[in-house]
Parts: sequence; structure tokens; C-alpha cells
Amino acid sequence: MQRKRRRKASPLTKSEQMARVRGMDTGPEMALRRALWHAGLRYRIRPSIPGRPDLAFMGCKIAVFVDGCFWHGCEVHYKVPSTNVTFWSEKIVRNKQRDRDVDAELGKLGWTVLRCWEHEVEDDLGSVVDRIRSAVVRSPDKGARASADASGKARTN
Ligand SMILES: [Zn+2]
Repeated sequence: MQRKRRRKASPLTKSEQMARVRGMDTGPEMALRRALWHAGLRYRIRPSIPGRPDLAFMGCKIAVFVDGCFWHGCEVHYKVPSTNVTFWSEKIVRNKQRDRDVDAELGKLGWTVLRCWEHEVEDDLGSVVDRIRSAVVRSPDKGARASADASGKARTN
């Protein structure tokens, strides 16, 4: 089933292509970061906690992962490649298992884990932002010093 349809038709710039090749931050993660920033939320990018989440709110201990539809086996978009079927199936199963392990590990350390699919960020960024923002706003500050401004208002600095 080919339901994947990207909203943004604009082609990647040369530097975006290069960044993508090198595995740097582009695409859905960047879009989400920008939107959260505009929503007044302040987060840490890939902090050194289990699973290296894409971003995290250190004060209220909320970790956010943007899961790629292919690598994490999204039910809507994951399609088994036509070659090396066993290899890919096993790989995706392992990735999903690792996600669950990371969730459990973070949970034990007092973190709340929010996962969103790449396609959710691409198709409905607003509701992903709302989900994250309401989780952050509802969460008490658990850390020594909050890096997230839980009021949801941007600080001027
Ligand atoms: Zn998907």
C-alpha cells in the first residue's frame, strides 16, 4: 500500500542532501525542533541518556523520539524490501525490541518517553507539538535546574 505522500514538494537543497547522507539532523527531527521552539518549549538535543532521544526536557524528564517509519517498522509505511527479506525482517524486529528496552530503561530512571512517528511529524506536526507541550506543561519539575520552561512561554534571552 503506497499511502506515503509528502506534503512538502520542495526538493532538498544541496546542503540538505549532503547532511542527509552524513546522517546529520534534517527532515522530521528538525521540523519538530523548530515547531517546539516556536511553541516556546526549550529542550536539549540528543542528551546522553539511554537511547539518545532526539530531544529531551531535562527538568521534567520527558524524552522524545521521532521514530523513522522504515527503521522502526511503522505499521502504515513499513514495507519489507524485496531482497534480503529475512535480514530486514530480523533487523526491524531487533530495532523495535531495542526501542522497548530503551523505554523500559528510561522508565526505571524516572523518564517519561514520548514517541512519535516520522509520518506524524510530516502529516500533522501541530498535534505532535500539542501532545509534547501538554505533557511538558503537566509534568512537575523533577530536576535540579529545569532547562525547559514549563510555562510554555518563550524566554527572551
Ligand atoms: Zn509511518
